[in-house]
Amino acid sequence: MESGTAGTGSETVMAGRMTGGEPDELEVLNPANGERIATLAVDPPERVAETVARVRANQAEWEALGIEGRYRWLGQLRDWLLDNQERVLDTMQRETGKVRADASNEPAYLADLINFYGTRAGKFLGEESIRPHSALLAGKKLRVQYRPHPVVGIISPWNFPLILALGDAIPALQAGAAVVVKPSEFTPLGLAEVVGAWKREIGGPDVLDCVQGVGETGGALVDAVDFIQFTGSDRTGRKVMARAAETLTPVSLELGGKDPMIVLADANLDRAANAAAWGGMMNSGQICISVERIYVEEPAYDEFVAKLTAEVGKLRQGSDDARDPKDVGAMTSPNQSAIVADHVEDALACGARALTGGKRVEGPGDYFEPTVLVDVDHSMKVMRDETFGPVVGVMKVRDADEALRLANDSRYGLSGSVFGERERAERVARRVECGAVNVNDVLVNYLASDVPMGGWKESGIGYRHGAPGIRKYCRTESVVVARFAGNREPTWYPYTRARRGLVGRVARAFNARDLRRRLGLRR
Ligand code: NAD
Repeated sequence: MESGTAGTGSETVMAGRMTGGEPDELEVLNPANGERIATLAVDPPERVAETVARVRANQAEWEALGIEGRYRWLGQLRDWLLDNQERVLDTMQRETGKVRADASNEPAYLADLINFYGTRAGKFLGEESIRPHSALLAGKKLRVQYRPHPVVGIISPWNFPLILALGDAIPALQAGAAVVVKPSEFTPLGLAEVVGAWKREIGGPDVLDCVQGVGETGGALVDAVDFIQFTGSDRTGRKVMARAAETLTPVSLELGGKDPMIVLADANLDRAANAAAWGGMMNSGQICISVERIYVEEPAYDEFVAKLTAEVGKLRQGSDDARDPKDVGAMTSPNQSAIVADHVEDALACGARALTGGKRVEGPGDYFEPTVLVDVDHSMKVMRDETFGPVVGVMKVRDADEALRLANDSRYGLSGSVFGERERAERVARRVECGAVNVNDVLVNYLASDVPMGGWKESGIGYRHGAPGIRKYCRTESVVVARFAGNREPTWYPYTRARRGLVGRVARAFNARDLRRRLGLRR
């Protein structure tokens, strides 16, 4: 893509150069070769406020379309994504440095998610009729309805530029909210392309837009919207939550992880090793739920480590195309690349060994070798802090209890996995302290939109997917209707001894659970 234009809140984005700090312009680089592919103007706070005000003005009409009407529009977005998949993948591959196979997950996931929420929103958001819990309320009709937050702001990271922006926009739009997204400054182009298509090619209602920038733009978005969905590091998540507190704006935070894998002695070690290799290296390990640390029961340790090292050692790394597919792509953000190098150097300096990989790749582009570390422990950054790169550390443990103690010894709790004989593995999995756990599988919980996904501890607040993933974009309104509306209720004015006595006796009769108290025979 040439520098110059993209579909953002400002409609036209001018070319320019990044100036560092809080920039006026964003320079987008291809991490696979370091080449500049675009420059975009940053949207200042006034432009963010204008964009939010514009989509806010159209939100009521969008909400009035109803669940079916909104699904019809989102269905057009699904069709556009499927029809233009190759174009979207080209853009995304260039701004992320992903291999094609990793990039191609994104449109497929989004198309599935549109259908998931489009066909289930009625169930998740339909008006609920509730039976009163007490006979005293028998004369009331109780209903609960879900009404959208008018404008949802989404702040997203660079590792899955579409999934982590549109994947949250889709349920918000399906719920009836208008949405403004601020994508990562490293990967703004794919999202801008889809938003531009929504406006100009699909002709969708003006309830979806994006703004470009870094912290200042993100902060301005927090100030302007009614709900913030943030995905990114826990460091920035804290800032977003503090900023949102100033306007009492509710937030949902999807933050970092340090996901453990436990391998029990009775596991299928081929499957466990292949899963660890894919779960740790897919997308160059730049996945919040990637396998970062592995605890293996002693009898299986040597064989598992040998199989894992062989599998990881075979991976082809680099920039790929249709004729020359690769397995592991580039590091998308230079900041993250520095963290990965620091974690591995720290581990090696403290006595760890790299059985394969262990350093940055020389040459053009930003690549870190797929790395398996052993002789690691929890004093090392690589086993404690989020590495977010193609690196796994493997530890030998005595038994499942020790594996669980170490797996749970983390400030994070996003997800995890356990491999072993199914029933035993499931029992162990239920004791892992995290928002989602896979048994004899990895990463797959993200594709199971049916079940909630969210972090415990410092991995986040709130959930995406399932009913919570769409209800969070709504405010709950309880509607209580008097069925029999006389001139007054016994609890209203005027207060008299007789009425107070009657109300007291009736309340006692209903609340007491034994006959003496019901009849008022015992005080
Ligand atoms: P980041 O926190 O650096 O940035 C995330 C977003 O916040 C970007 O759009 C950035 O521009 C914006 N931002 C920066 N400063 C801001 C401020 N002061 N106010 C508002 N917005 C601001 O994260 P990243 O490096 O882009 O992404 C990697 C992190 O994301 C990792 O920690 C990873 O685990 C996490 N992540 C979590 C999930 C999940 O679902 N839990 C998914 C993917 C990534």
